Amino acid sequence: MAGDPASPGATLPDGAVVVGADGRIVSVGPAADIVEAHLGLPVDRFERHVLLPGLVNTHAHLAMTMFRGTADDRDLADFLAIVMPLEARTLTRGHVQVGTRAAAVELVRSGVTTSLDMYFHATAGVAAAAEVGLRVLSGPTIIEGGPSTLPWDDLMAYASDWLRTHPSEGAWRPTIAPHGTYTVSPGQLSEVAELVAGHDCIVQIHLSETEAENAMVLERLGRRPLDVLDDAGLLGPDTVLAHGVHLDPAEQARVAAAGAAVAHCPVSNLKLASGVAPVPGLLAAGATVALGTDGAASANDLDLLGVLRLTALLHKGAPSGPGGPDATNLPAATVLRAATLGGAEAAGIEAHTGSIEVGKLADLVAVDLSDPSTEPVLDPLAAVVYGASRHQVRSVWVAGERVLDDGRFVSVDERDVVASLRRLGDELHQS
Ligand SMILES: [Zn+2]
Repeated sequence: MAGDPASPGATLPDGAVVVGADGRIVSVGPAADIVEAHLGLPVDRFERHVLLPGLVNTHAHLAMTMFRGTADDRDLADFLAIVMPLEARTLTRGHVQVGTRAAAVELVRSGVTTSLDMYFHATAGVAAAAEVGLRVLSGPTIIEGGPSTLPWDDLMAYASDWLRTHPSEGAWRPTIAPHGTYTVSPGQLSEVAELVAGHDCIVQIHLSETEAENAMVLERLGRRPLDVLDDAGLLGPDTVLAHGVHLDPAEQARVAAAGAAVAHCPVSNLKLASGVAPVPGLLAAGATVALGTDGAASANDLDLLGVLRLTALLHKGAPSGPGGPDATNLPAATVLRAATLGGAEAAGIEAHTGSIEVGKLADLVAVDLSDPSTEPVLDPLAAVVYGASRHQVRSVWVAGERVLDDGRFVSVDERDVVASLRRLGDELHQS
């Protein structure tokens, strides 16, 4: 079964996909017709599976797998008070490589084929993800006094250099990530806006994650975070706002009008008691809503498949904003769209990924639905969103390259990856 390009969210029973040598989809249709039209090509068959477009993770700090468990059961302010000094004391390029490699393995296991990343030592992160086979879009994280310890001018020079040396190409787009309006000043945000003008890149920033953030920015600058971002010239179609938990209705409409996207990260928002993002309101306003895991330091796992289920349930039973509980909120197809095409739109790469369509890259995920948690399958999309777990993700392709083959990684030894992460964790906790 595959997504029907003519009707997003629809399914095609007994479907088939042909992948060309360039990693792009050549043909999609009923298996009987496709096989006959391409006799002689090797065929992989997946009985009782659903073939999905690869999931797109739109907010993460991948290497923070190394800090998993270091600040549980705390709110965002207390969490940052522990994690930021720990990063400043311990972070190296090698650590980022180990942490990101483990994150990439975990993401692929939950059906992710593309992830945005907001972290330090981006070169090491990109290299680690490439080892695994995951597509990671990233770039400099801008925060004065952060673990990169670069003075501001050097940080901006590094960012400029990154945009020049990592230009967008196909499904790759570089990112520039000012950390937040409470950690980067309005003047600095304006400098970032000048820097990105004329470059094809993604701007990712934390925004209105907590009430306390809104209050702090209002008190300090006399404006709310979205106003600060907009005034700096950074609210636009290339902007991905992480969290957006406390966007009011007028701000939700502004996000939609600007063509910006919200990366919804409900696991992190709930664990840090930040609140529930106004997803039904954002969708009603016409904003692009995508899904994210956030980092493993705050969300503990990077299970984007699990985020689909939580998103559907959360906004039915405990939505924020007007309307109250409503079981018709966020049907399975809406959630799956947010996790795939919505994520691709947020990242500005929807021409290349996010759906199973001729001409797009073969970013594909085969999920085995012959499982006690999903049989009998009446609606494969509902089975994926409401019942499936990560162990049912059996095969994953990124741009036609098989990364996970019937549960086994093709390019890395998963046990080595996990053992490296464990050793790094031991080292950090002794430091
Ligand atoms: Zn974050």
